[in-house]
Amino acid sequence: MESSTGVLVIGGGSTGTGIARDLAMRGVDVTLVEKGNLTHGTTGRMHGLLHSGGRYAVSDQESAKECIIENRILRDIASHCVEMTGGLFVQRPQDSDEYFQKKLEGCRECDIPAEVLSPEEAREVEPYLATDIERAIKVPDGAIDPFRLCVANAVSTENHGGRIETHAPVTDVLLEDGEVVGVEVTHESGPGKRVHGNEGQTEKIYADHVVNAAGAWTGRIGDMAGVDIEVRPSKGVMTVMNARQVDTVINRCKPKGDADIIVPHETAAILGTTDEEVEDPEDYAEEQWEVDLMIEELKELVPILDESRTLRSFWGVRPLYEPPDTGTEDATDITRQFFLLDHDDRDDLPGMTTIVGGKFTTYRMMAEQLSDHVCERLGIDAECRTAEVPLPGSENTGVLDDAMDQFGLRSPIARRSKQRLGSRTEEVLDVDGPNPVVCQCEGVTRAELVDAIDQSGTDLNAVRLRTRASMGNCQGGFCSRAMADLLHPEYEEAIAREAYDELFQERWKGERHALWGEQLSQAMLNYALHATTLNADSDPARLGQDVDFAAFDGGESASAERTGTGADAVATDGGHDGD
Ligand SMILES: Cc1cc2nc3c(=O)[nH]c(=O)nc-3n(C[C@H](O)[C@H](O)[C@H](O)COP(=O)(O)OP(=O)(O)OC[C@H]3O[C@@H](n4cnc5c(N)ncnc54)[C@H](O)[C@@H]3O)c2cc1C
Repeated sequence: MESSTGVLVIGGGSTGTGIARDLAMRGVDVTLVEKGNLTHGTTGRMHGLLHSGGRYAVSDQESAKECIIENRILRDIASHCVEMTGGLFVQRPQDSDEYFQKKLEGCRECDIPAEVLSPEEAREVEPYLATDIERAIKVPDGAIDPFRLCVANAVSTENHGGRIETHAPVTDVLLEDGEVVGVEVTHESGPGKRVHGNEGQTEKIYADHVVNAAGAWTGRIGDMAGVDIEVRPSKGVMTVMNARQVDTVINRCKPKGDADIIVPHETAAILGTTDEEVEDPEDYAEEQWEVDLMIEELKELVPILDESRTLRSFWGVRPLYEPPDTGTEDATDITRQFFLLDHDDRDDLPGMTTIVGGKFTTYRMMAEQLSDHVCERLGIDAECRTAEVPLPGSENTGVLDDAMDQFGLRSPIARRSKQRLGSRTEEVLDVDGPNPVVCQCEGVTRAELVDAIDQSGTDLNAVRLRTRASMGNCQGGFCSRAMADLLHPEYEEAIAREAYDELFQERWKGERHALWGEQLSQAMLNYALHATTLNADSDPARLGQDVDFAAFDGGESASAERTGTGADAVATDGGHDGD
């Protein structure tokens, strides 16, 4: 199978989806390919902090300035993905006055609004701060939903005629006469609306230009093209607490160090992080001491964390880049700036540009610079409009309020639906018939889930990214089955089962790092519900046996079974009679 496009973008993280949107809005024919789901890489495994730039105001002022510029833009164009929580840099008794002062001055030099709060004022903002804190600097940090933001960028790309292809890993970069002319992908999509090609089928996609936005994997794409890209992947752990112990981003005001930030995120608070170089962005140790360190260190700032319930932990890998011969030994010293590598100038290989490094917060700026560059290469004269045109869902906040009134929505559930859907609230919630809550922890209604299934088909992890269903306290224990039920009857039973397994497995990956206290009880309950009560692990339908559905009602075969006369009857608990 062969196809062609103007620009082929590799990578469905913030950088890739941002680039695809930017180019599509300039009228460029663009195709994005992603090996997993959107946000499959680092973007789906970050802290969710919309940086004010305060974090880099001493160590990396270039990044700090970029962050505050983009912080202001994203509040405008992606209001339904951003919660302006505000942030505090908190000084503890052992933290130096000199550094506090440097941070304050650094913020002001970088145009980051910064105000000093006394300990009493800081505790008025955040009552659970430790009683011995000395003072704090208030900055405009926020929380941002990476999943919603990337999906909005992808939807905007499609609205402008672009093609988004998930579950399509690039397996080769196509070269002709010393020039990159496209890529080869393998389609791994399953059945249902996820189908774009046939599973296992390869597709050669020819392009006028290829953009390598594969994050920590950019080096691997470089290898396929025969060029060296010195990515220095660095892992960091994040631990999710079951409630928002704080409503403001809390940073420890000290030079770089592990476990120095808490980000309130939707219904949870995320503790982080570490910074340790790894060889392979997909294969590295996930160690318990890293999780323990988060709680041990951060409880000094917010003591109530010690009594709180840990839901799960996850790790992400920073796509840090180090220009050749820099020779930085400590990963924490590698710059957070982004780099645009024109392989024609750099390696004498026309047809491909790589973009690597940077922050999630600066994704739009990265996309703008990259798109300017590609347009110049291709002789396209079109302005970037992404700083002004809102993302889908963020167009008109007045529409939201009208929709709230129209639907009489005042409950917390409605408020959260509105936050998630933005200006699409009216369109999505306007359904015939009842609209119950399916995911109780996150307050996600059936209408939202059906809408997400319409967009992403049978991939329940993609539905999760769009809605947050299954990401709350029960970690899918109660709702994932109900989510799978919504796939039927449009999709066959076997597809719904597979989708359910994939979703449940994805949740388990993070939960297994939090098996103590109440979360252990929750995990045991989830096991009891799914493996025992629902018999998910030995369900005859999964084992390829025929289910005698008549045995479930009062029919003839049911009574035959009750008396033990049914031939090879399957009991209602799924086991064979007498097992
Ligand atoms: C622990 C941690 C915390 C962080 N916290 C924050 C924060 O709070 N705020 C902030 O602004 N930034 C934060 N960052 C940084 C931020 O997450 C990253 O800079 C950003 O997400 C990188 O996005 P990306 O699109 O460049 O890479 P990715 O999101 O990794 O996207 C690259 C994509 O390419 C795909 N890909 C790879 N190989 C192939 C292939 N062969 N074929 C097709 N697709 C392929 C991958 O699956 C992936 O989805 C954090 C990073 C880490 C590690």
